[in-house]
Amino acid sequence: MTTFADLNLHERLIRALTEQDITKPTPVQQAAIPEALAGHDLHVVARTGSGKTAAFLLPLLQGLMEHSRPRTDTRALIMLPTRELAQQTLKQVEALGRYTFIQAELVTGGEDFKVQAAKMRKNPEILIGTPGRLIEHLEAGNLILGDLEVLVLDESDRMLDMGFSDDVLRLAAECRAERQTLLFSATSGGNAMVKIIGSVLNNPKSLVLDTVRDLNEAVTQQIITADDVAHKERLVQWLLAHETFGKAVIFTNTRDQADRLGGVLRATSQKVFVLHGEKDQKERKLAMDRLKAGAVNVLVATDVAARGIHVDGLDLVINFDMPRSGDEYVHRIGRTGRVGGEGTAISLIAAHEWNLMASIQRYLRQQFEFRIVEPLRGKYLGPKKTKSNGKAAGSKKKKHKTKADAKKGRKPLKKKAAARKGPRRSKPAVPDTQGGFATVKKKKNPGPID
Ligand code: AMP
Repeated sequence: MTTFADLNLHERLIRALTEQDITKPTPVQQAAIPEALAGHDLHVVARTGSGKTAAFLLPLLQGLMEHSRPRTDTRALIMLPTRELAQQTLKQVEALGRYTFIQAELVTGGEDFKVQAAKMRKNPEILIGTPGRLIEHLEAGNLILGDLEVLVLDESDRMLDMGFSDDVLRLAAECRAERQTLLFSATSGGNAMVKIIGSVLNNPKSLVLDTVRDLNEAVTQQIITADDVAHKERLVQWLLAHETFGKAVIFTNTRDQADRLGGVLRATSQKVFVLHGEKDQKERKLAMDRLKAGAVNVLVATDVAARGIHVDGLDLVINFDMPRSGDEYVHRIGRTGRVGGEGTAISLIAAHEWNLMASIQRYLRQQFEFRIVEPLRGKYLGPKKTKSNGKAAGSKKKKHKTKADAKKGRKPLKKKAAARKGPRRSKPAVPDTQGGFATVKKKKNPGPID
């Protein structure tokens, strides 16, 4: 068995790990720590919950300790997509670095700018921040990166999805050229990721620990078909009343739906918090604290609000709406079954979501378990016939047979048949715009999220 001592970690770090009962390095830690200690740039693909934060923090802390120098400008910068993730990362720095005397500060939105600037003037060795606010401090002259030794880009795929690509490139360009850069991502990412890797990393080692396809085996994945929104609401109430779980997160695709579902659940005296991009920092913090402390055990959230969040004992994820991409699905269900825990992910599928669910299944190369809640059995139980790819047969819009038909404006489908198929999936009325959905135009700087 590999131990942290085998990875040549400093005794002070091992002491902190032991105090937290962390004794065995996870696969990503075993792979990344020696390479990072050797000074290589890294591109690591590892899923959420794999212990990736410690995989970069331990070598980072060790490097700062071993080459100690008077505190002048920032020595390490950890860039990540959301405040919640930043707060969690700071907690891990404090826990793992408690015997190192290394100081860290948060630089995220939603906090007082001047207070942050004052804290930055004290020259903490590590800054943990979100790109939007970091750029603001850069422009105000508060952030000086010319002496930077280590740059970490955590959950890079999320940062790019959220439209931070230009900000990340700009910040990286300000950093000292001879730095070490560690890039972590839960998915391999698209073209934007290739660009970042090419311009920010220097001759990196690539460590692909697990991809979306090796999704957490500890998570049972089920689907339940639903007739409409009201049916879904009844299903959620039933599941919360009958499933055995410690804590649950229910994901919706829109803020409106999150608010509505929160109201429905509260009406049946379910204690629940609703978290989405419109909630202010105080509400978000309160929701997370209550959930962590166990005062509330159900959270209704949009993707943007739940990104990177780690809550112990979270073992049930319900997709009220099907996420619009396989990667988003991975992120959602990655909230459960973390580091050895077990979990259940249940997706509620209306007729218009069937094909999306089928493509996600194919993308993950996994088969979801089909489940029927008998007391709430609906009319819709999936398509009558499916194609070999799992999608509903005959689900493509039929073309007009002849130009003459088209001219006459003949409808391609009879009304009845169209109704059977269910409504076309339309753009949500109020999408949680920082969610980075495929159908939502990405913004350059999503603003309020960080
Ligand atoms: P992460 O993937 O970094 O979000 O980590 C998820 C959780 O796993 C955190 O609460 C860590 O404290 C915990 N963790 C990290 N490394 C280990 C380990 N080697 N053994 C057990 N738990 C760990």
